[in-house]
Amino acid sequence: MSAENYNPYENAQTQFDNVAGGLGLDSGTLALLRQPMYETHFTIPVKMDDGTTQVFNAFRVRHNDARGPAKGGIRFHPHETADTVRALAMWMTWKCAVVDIPLGGGKGGVICDPRNMSPGEQERMCRGYVRALYKQIGPNIDVPAPDVMSNAQHMLWMMDEYEAITGNRYPGVITGKPVGMGGSLGRTEATGFGVIYVLKDLLCRLGLPIEATSASIQGFGNVAEYAARMYTENGGKVVAVSCWNVADSKAYTYKKADGCDIAQLVSIKDSFGSIDKDKAYALGYDIQDGDAWLCQDVDILIPAALENQITPAVFPKISKQVKYICEGANGPTTPDCDPLIRERGIVMLPDFLCNAGGVTCSYFEQVQCNMNYFWDKAEVLNKLEYAMTRAFRAVYDLSKEKDVYMRDAAYMIAIDRVAKAVKLRGWV
Ligand code: NAD
Repeated sequence: MSAENYNPYENAQTQFDNVAGGLGLDSGTLALLRQPMYETHFTIPVKMDDGTTQVFNAFRVRHNDARGPAKGGIRFHPHETADTVRALAMWMTWKCAVVDIPLGGGKGGVICDPRNMSPGEQERMCRGYVRALYKQIGPNIDVPAPDVMSNAQHMLWMMDEYEAITGNRYPGVITGKPVGMGGSLGRTEATGFGVIYVLKDLLCRLGLPIEATSASIQGFGNVAEYAARMYTENGGKVVAVSCWNVADSKAYTYKKADGCDIAQLVSIKDSFGSIDKDKAYALGYDIQDGDAWLCQDVDILIPAALENQITPAVFPKISKQVKYICEGANGPTTPDCDPLIRERGIVMLPDFLCNAGGVTCSYFEQVQCNMNYFWDKAEVLNKLEYAMTRAFRAVYDLSKEKDVYMRDAAYMIAIDRVAKAVKLRGWV
């Protein structure tokens, strides 16, 4: 089955069912946790620069807020669907629970392509999103953040619109804001760095020096760039990165067998994570097909682009050298591929553990906004590394104790925490 035939929401529910069924939960808790509690579908009319009005379809989903206000990004993507947002909201619930921060799971999305919109059109769309939704978000209700193709500037426009409507200052209504405007130092780096904090701790436990490893990465946006930076700073070698090329709407893999120069690749990418193909060629990169990142002879694969990228159909292309998969993206592996990965003995660092650095730092941003006192970057990153390794160790130890796949161990911990919260509140 090809990537586009998988439904992320069905994947998220299958993953939940695979584990929740064995946890002895009552039927009410199971029914409550396998679907979102609230969701809103709405339209955003936007005056375009050419004088026409374009209507964008948008979503916001709150999967579960028993452990605290919902938290989750707003994704801008031309192929966004309600089911993708439902899945992402569900994964946010487990993510906040596995790192043990007092937040629930939410997510938003707009079907749009900001790469083809002027800054003014993007601003009007962001403000329209908040005008339609302001009664359902708030620092103690549901707190959005950036995700695929949304950024700090988008978040600031949204916060400004919320404050204009409500007539007050609410820096905690949104995270991922620019530094100096209520944003936290380290938030930009947090998700990618978090991926590598977890990987480093895993390799350390296995007695494998990170300097002796190589990796291939899908994506070169926020998560992938900072994962690549932290991994190479620690001595690892990135052999290939793959990303989307806007000019011809195709993905390509950029390869240097002796190691990519990450700073150099950053200097030739745009703000949406697309590398300039001609410049990469001029710099001596070997340019291969979009899915070639998956076939490299490396130790580690880091999918950090979109969901449904590692499926049974492409699994045979994965080199026998690959021993670890670190899921930087949300839902990059389909549930029917997990058994193949496990059988081959590949160690899986599952998405909602591995990429939890972003929401953890967003939580730190909320804490700093509440105090109106901001930490320096070293303090933020120290707290982040502590939170990520603490969560990883709990998952790793449980996976050893119960002899289960790490994804299942992460689900056991997260579902148990959320199930206890709904029970304590008397919802079930
Ligand atoms: P981004 O928009 O900054 O980057 C996305 C990257 O994926 C770009 O480099 C793009 O070119 C590439 N891409 C898109 N389609 C591709 C394809 N078919 N083949 C190869 N590359 C492709 O997004 P991001 O914020 O880095 O998010 C990436 C993933 O990580 C998403 O699944 C997102 O939900 C997840 N995530 C992001 C954060 C965060 O803090 N940004 C936190 C947790 C999880």
